[in-house]
Amino acid sequence: MVIEAGTRPAPSAAQLQCETDTGIATIPLVQEVSFGSWQRGIPAEYQGLGAEELTARIRAARAALGSRVVILGHHYQREDIIEFADERGDSFMLAQYAAERPESEYIVFCGVHFMAEAADILCQPHQQVILPNLEAGCSMADMASEPDVRSAWRELEAFFGTAEDIIPVTYMNSAASLKAFCGEHGGVVCTSSNAGKVLEWAFERGKRVFFFPDQHLGRNTGHAMGIPLEEMVLWNWRQPAGRLGGADPAALERSRIILWQGHCSVHQRFSLTQIEEARAQYPGVKIVVHPECRYDVVQAADANGSTAFIAKYVANAPAGSVIGVGTEINLVSRLAKEHPDKTVFCLDPVVCPCSTMYRVHPAYLAWVMESLVRGEVVNRIQIPEETKRYARIALERMLALK
Ligand code: SF4
Repeated sequence: MVIEAGTRPAPSAAQLQCETDTGIATIPLVQEVSFGSWQRGIPAEYQGLGAEELTARIRAARAALGSRVVILGHHYQREDIIEFADERGDSFMLAQYAAERPESEYIVFCGVHFMAEAADILCQPHQQVILPNLEAGCSMADMASEPDVRSAWRELEAFFGTAEDIIPVTYMNSAASLKAFCGEHGGVVCTSSNAGKVLEWAFERGKRVFFFPDQHLGRNTGHAMGIPLEEMVLWNWRQPAGRLGGADPAALERSRIILWQGHCSVHQRFSLTQIEEARAQYPGVKIVVHPECRYDVVQAADANGSTAFIAKYVANAPAGSVIGVGTEINLVSRLAKEHPDKTVFCLDPVVCPCSTMYRVHPAYLAWVMESLVRGEVVNRIQIPEETKRYARIALERMLALK
C-alpha cells in the first residue's frame, strides 16, 4: 500500500517504536538482569566488557581464524551478533549453508539449541558445531520432550489399534531426538516455509498427522489446506498418561491432525486486538505475521509466512507502505532500518524479543571465538550417531519434497 503524501500524518518514529526496543542494545553481561539464568561458566574476564571492546575482540578472533570458522546468525539475533554473521537466515537455511562449507572446521551457530543440533546433523563429520551460550534454548522446543511424545504415541497406537496410518511430523523447532523419532516412524520434519507441502506428503501416506510441537503452525497450515478446525484436536501433554491428552475420544476418532499443545512464547503475544488497533490507527496498513501466531491473528492478517517470507514481503512492498509485523523484534527493527522508505513496525506495542535468542550476548561469542584461536573448543553441540542417522532420514524426506 502507498500512503499518498498529505492523506494522513506520518506516524512519528517514537510512535512506532516498541517501548523497550532501545533496550536490546548490548550492555555488559553482568548488568543483564537475566544473566543469573544464563551459562555461568563464561570466564569472569568477559563478564564486564562493553559492546565496543567485545566487538573489537570478536573481530580480531574472526580475522585470526579466517575460513576455518563460519558464523551463522538467525534472523532473531541482536545486531551486535548479526554484524559478524557470514550468513543470516532461518534455522534450516543456516544448517544447510554450513553443510555446504566443508572448508570451515568450526560452525559457530548464533541461534538456539535445536538450530545448532540441526547443523550438527547436517554438517560433515570433520566439522564441529558450537553454540555460544548453552542456555540458549527454545521454550517451544522444550514443550515437547521425547518421553512425552513417545508416551503419547503409545496411547494413540492403543486408541486406534495401530499407529501405522499416523504420520508424525515435527517442526524444525524441536529436539534432535524428535526428528529422529519421526525418521524412525515414517515421519518427516517441516519448516514454516514448507509445512503445507509436508502435510500433503504425510496425507498421501497416512490417515492422520501427529504434529508437534507448535499447535499454531499445525492448525494454520491445516486450515490453509482446507481441513476443518473440528478435524484438528489438541493433545495436552500436561495431562497424565492414559487421558488421551485431554482429547474427547469422539473428536480424536474423526481427527485428521492431532496437534501437540505447544506454542512459541514470542508469537503467542500477538493478538487480534493489536491488529484491530493498527488498522484503526493507520488506515490501509498491511499486516504480515508468522504462522506461529494464533489462528485468529493469522486469519486477520493480510499475509503470513516464515521469516524469509516476511522479509520478502517488506522488501517487495512499494515505497511509502505502512506494514505492521507480527514477529520477533530484532527482525522487525532490522527490516525497518533496511527499508527507510517504508514504515515498518512491530504489532506488539511493548516488546517481544525472544528471550532465549537474546542470551547469545556478544560476550559469549567473544569467549567461544577466542577459545578457538587458542585451539580450544568450548560449547560444542554433538548429537549421538544413532539419533543423527534417524533424524537425517526425516530431514531428507523433507528435502526430497523440493
Ligand atoms: S522465537 Fe519462539 S520458536 Fe523461535 S526460538 Fe524463540 S521461543 Fe523458540
